[in-house]
Amino acid sequence: MTMDHLTDEQKQVLTMIRDFVRKDIEPIASEMEQKDIYPHDLVNKMKALGLFGMSISEKYGGMGLNYSTYALVIAEISRGWMSMAGVLNSHLIMAKLVENYGTEEQKNRYLPKMATGEKRGGIGLTEPNCGSDVAAIETYAVRDGDDYVINGTKMMITNGEQGNTFAVLVKTDRQIKPQHRGISCFILEKGPGFKSGRHLDKLGYRGVDTSELIFENHHTPITNLVGGKEGEGFKQMMDGLEGGRINVAARAVGVATAAFEKAIAYAQKRHTMGVPIAQHQAIQLKLADMYTKLEASKLLVANAAAKKDRGERCDLEAGMAKLFASEACAEIALDAMRIHGGYGYFKEYPVERYYRDAPLMIIGEGTSEIQKLVIARNLLQKFKSV
Ligand SMILES: Cc1cc2nc3c(=O)[nH]c(=O)nc-3n(C[C@H](O)[C@H](O)[C@H](O)COP(=O)(O)OP(=O)(O)OC[C@H]3O[C@@H](n4cnc5c(N)ncnc54)[C@H](O)[C@@H]3O)c2cc1C
Repeated sequence: MTMDHLTDEQKQVLTMIRDFVRKDIEPIASEMEQKDIYPHDLVNKMKALGLFGMSISEKYGGMGLNYSTYALVIAEISRGWMSMAGVLNSHLIMAKLVENYGTEEQKNRYLPKMATGEKRGGIGLTEPNCGSDVAAIETYAVRDGDDYVINGTKMMITNGEQGNTFAVLVKTDRQIKPQHRGISCFILEKGPGFKSGRHLDKLGYRGVDTSELIFENHHTPITNLVGGKEGEGFKQMMDGLEGGRINVAARAVGVATAAFEKAIAYAQKRHTMGVPIAQHQAIQLKLADMYTKLEASKLLVANAAAKKDRGERCDLEAGMAKLFASEACAEIALDAMRIHGGYGYFKEYPVERYYRDAPLMIIGEGTSEIQKLVIARNLLQKFKSV
């Protein structure tokens, strides 16, 4: 990725990140990922670099980066090891949600500690019986004096084991229709009645933890209801996911960039029929397709991030960026493996990791099918015929 069109601030931040990725992440990423070892040292380095507060306002101790810069940083980290971006993503979605919708007391209580990484966040939407259909969640809260009592299970939660503080969607009204109006968002901290459950073993995106969260008569004070209002949780989280989708699309750009770079380097070194394989037109056609898809992905991400930075809703743009970039990443990762021939199938070459990491971007923060529904809904609004 060139830095030609970046602002001075972006160049400065990206130079720091590139240095970190090259020196600290790249040399150990494949081994840690394959062995599913949690990267405690790298996480501590990310804390020291201030990355846990990347998009939190300076007022609350963060770096205050806008979405455009944040997306560039996430792509750069993912180019080294996508799992490391996962450690930050849901933590920062939660922080943004608290900053945008929390009470002043909640912001002061949580954001400075989230910015340092002392409080490690995540988001809990998905449950054993529902993921895409968020409105159908079954975890519920019942008011008990100055507390709510929460029961239920969340599933596939990133940072579920290493995180300690989560933004969790919970039904406070199980009768109301439409169902999403009965959903509230709570800031929940691990403690009596709230623990992580099973560690979930994954195809790719290993090293970082994905687990269940279990609530058994967990008491939380009413002051932990985001914004102090019941029934607002669905809206608050969907707004947060807009930023999350930009992040996932940026992760796809990072993985696809790494896959392309490894493929074009290998194609110039590997010889068949007396010439480097890069001289064969079949390989050239692949490289041309890969890079065109990669550049288109970057532009879609930049477009969505710029709109979000202007303070506008960008469901359409974030949905298109996430849909296109994640599908393109999976195709580019497969092509990179093909260009490596048999070697691409072995763990000694990082392209096998990119190939296993790529499908997560198609699923997380809403599958491609759900992105298409979001895109179509927005198009029908935008091009409404009277
Ligand atoms: C590694 C990993 C980490 C994750 N981290 C988190 C996290 O931190 N927090 C969290 O809350 N969740 C997390 N998730 C869950 C993720 O968001 C869900 O897996 C995703 O939203 C899909 O939900 P589901 O798995 O229940 O699939 P389902 O909703 O059951 O969908 C199954 C299939 O049906 C399709 N489908 C569903 N509804 C429709 C429809 N209306 N029209 C057309 N097709 C449809 C889907 O696209 C999919 O192909 C994570 C998932 C993974 C794999």
